[in-house]
Amino acid sequence: MSFAMAIVENALKMAEEKNLKRIESITVKIGELLLINPEQLKFCYQAASSGTMLEGTELKIEFERAEISCVSCGKKFKTPIYLCDSCGGFVSVQGGKNFVLKKIEARNGI
Ligand SMILES: [Zn+2]
Repeated sequence: MSFAMAIVENALKMAEEKNLKRIESITVKIGELLLINPEQLKFCYQAASSGTMLEGTELKIEFERAEISCVSCGKKFKTPIYLCDSCGGFVSVQGGKNFVLKKIEARNGI
């Protein structure tokens, strides 16, 4: 629930700053390593936004992919590991852990 609450709070703040009265949708970008279930997040978002000006708006979710690769041999991995399984080198992880409120769209014509 905390992520959903954070989205709602930040989106309300952003809407206020931009002086938006009617919101159509909110787009967030989520690092895949945060392992957030999008369906669950949408469900929590509906609950968290209920009673605010965001009630009934659509939550769009995009994923930020992580780049995980061995520093020594360059082998790429899908999931984070501590050491490369082919050469034993250190593995670096780039991205995949950010949580960004990317876009807030106002309803057209109002
Ligand atoms: Zn390696």
